[in-house]
Amino acid sequence: MKVLIAYPIKINLNRLENISWRPDLLSNDDGLRDEISRFKPHIILVDNNLLSAETLHLWRNIMGSSAVLNVIRSGADLTRINTEKVAELGIHLSNILELIPEINSRKGCEEAMDQAALTVLAVIVLKETFCGSTNFEIPSTLTNESITVIGAGIAGLVAALFLSIGGYRVTVIDRHDQPVLGKDLEVYNGGTTMGGCDARHASVTEAVAAPTRVRSLRLTPMNKGWRMLDNMSSDEEVWAQKFEAMSHFPEMYSIFSDLVTSMNRAAIDLWEDLFKQIPELAENAMRSRRIVRLCTSESAVSNTVEFQNKVHRKTDKVIQLSKEQVVTRFPHLNHDHLAGGVEVEGFTMNVQQLGDNLVNYLAKKRQVTFRWACEVASLEDTVVVLKTGEKIISDRILLATGVSGDAPLKVSPIIKQVQAVIGYWLKLPNINRITEGFKIHEADPVAVMNVTMSVDDATLIISGGFGFVGKHPIVKTSHYTEMAVLVARTVRKYFPTEFEKATESNKKIPMTYCLRPMSADGMPVIDWITTANSDKVMYVGATSGGGFVQASMLSLFALDMFSGRNDYAHITRAMVSSRDSLSDCLYYHDITDDDVEETPEDSMKPLDASIQQFVDDFLLL
Ligand SMILES: Cc1cc2nc3c(=O)[nH]c(=O)nc-3n(C[C@H](O)[C@H](O)[C@H](O)COP(=O)(O)OP(=O)(O)OC[C@H]3O[C@@H](n4cnc5c(N)ncnc54)[C@H](O)[C@@H]3O)c2cc1C
Repeated sequence: MKVLIAYPIKINLNRLENISWRPDLLSNDDGLRDEISRFKPHIILVDNNLLSAETLHLWRNIMGSSAVLNVIRSGADLTRINTEKVAELGIHLSNILELIPEINSRKGCEEAMDQAALTVLAVIVLKETFCGSTNFEIPSTLTNESITVIGAGIAGLVAALFLSIGGYRVTVIDRHDQPVLGKDLEVYNGGTTMGGCDARHASVTEAVAAPTRVRSLRLTPMNKGWRMLDNMSSDEEVWAQKFEAMSHFPEMYSIFSDLVTSMNRAAIDLWEDLFKQIPELAENAMRSRRIVRLCTSESAVSNTVEFQNKVHRKTDKVIQLSKEQVVTRFPHLNHDHLAGGVEVEGFTMNVQQLGDNLVNYLAKKRQVTFRWACEVASLEDTVVVLKTGEKIISDRILLATGVSGDAPLKVSPIIKQVQAVIGYWLKLPNINRITEGFKIHEADPVAVMNVTMSVDDATLIISGGFGFVGKHPIVKTSHYTEMAVLVARTVRKYFPTEFEKATESNKKIPMTYCLRPMSADGMPVIDWITTANSDKVMYVGATSGGGFVQASMLSLFALDMFSGRNDYAHITRAMVSSRDSLSDCLYYHDITDDDVEETPEDSMKPLDASIQQFVDDFLLL
């Protein structure tokens, strides 16, 4: 898909085959027409350029009547574009100023405008390029290059797979031992993927946070907030302000969410295609082939149907389920609090089994080597320095360290951008032999709970709960306990018999957590890390609650960037780490009375008696 950029966007997209970078055409209408004739773009990004009827006709004639054409426009002057002709010729117009009107009133927000335009561009290209389940081709390159992948979580393992298919020699390093299924995995320092619970969902709306989470990070769990910490460091404070500022810019936020949902949609297809091509990867791991979202009120059902229809493709099936249908489908749940549901595209996954399958598959490949129990202390250009002092030399490095890679990321602003949001889970005996995974939409801070079965179906794994912990890997404040109890109480509400069974004879349910790597605007990060060799070291991650589903797509992009093909540059440029500083002026907003922080509650305060009682009775924290 070809893109003509005819305004001086500040992010450099120069020297890419599928992008014509012509900021000089800003006020040169004849030149713009010449370039349209020569380059034949599908998308044109313009500022205040003249898009007359003549120019639009020329473009449509050159491209033919069936081509999908898009104009992304950030200029304010609507007299310079023939909007009637745009409509008549079936050209789609995304007017950034209409999408994010709040920008107009701000001075110096060109960078935010650029970011918005790039994100809209990425969404269009994603939707047009990956518009149906196709046989994805993972391109291979004639290369003898070596790449060290740091991090054997889902991002690193899938990237290692794609890079090895792409022709690279790959060494995967992780500081934890080789994971052994069923043994010692569920400890957080094993990383989010292998050190978390063995259950993930792939659906189109994973990792889409509601822009209504105004001041979430200031409010404690008991007040429906995400607050876990008493005091934030200055880096955590900046992250928190950016996260909260999104609620002041809902249109901008919805552009970012569009990118995440479009990525997720394509990523689901890519996973399914990968499993068709290499079935052993999915063995014992891929479960329910559709995902049901259960809702607690009629209005939640209709809002969910509307939203899911918006983010799915026209050809996707989004099916509304009545309460009766939900009761028939999940007869063993307590339905008192449920009003109905929505069935959508997706699947559930036992992610540790998938990780194990990936490691076994990769270990058989000649060009892949694993180095377990090796902690990286630092990077010296493209030399990886281990804690032991050993140096590993390769041509390139991919950092897939999730939220725990501070040591090798020392030089990069990414270290501040990627922070942690906690998630909890517990396990119940699957005494009613539930065999289909599903989600329950609850209110914050429990939010959407995922229910998945263990590989042998003997156990239900239920995850939920959000809390901002920034750069703190271990949190044991009273807010931590409150959140755990809120999640566990909600679980008991829907699974009373299973909960009772798990706690009979004074048994306690172990409840634990791990940390989701997340950026403040919710979009993933895929970017070169600025070093002397700026196209040698890359970071991929920050995917929030969508790290599993997005791993397939991000790995395709990582291979694209390493190989220098840059076929997807118009998508990946929207996810670069510099977007954080580019959008600084947008994130900033004037403090109003509403923003005044309430008196912080001491997170070490004694717990409320009922919370303490619940912990004493039922939980091992
Ligand atoms: C409760 C919960 C539920 C979730 N549910 C879903 C879901 O349903 N769907 C979904 O898509 N996502 C979900 N997620 C999010 C998803 O699990 C994460 O985004 C994803 O696992 C992150 O993977 P990663 O590879 O980026 O990071 P990680 O899995 O953390 O991998 C990073 C690896 O790097 C290693 N490492 C770090 N530093 C070093 C170093 N210095 N030297 C050597 N090795 C190092 C670590 O040991 C680790 O193995 C959920 C998360 C949680 C917590």
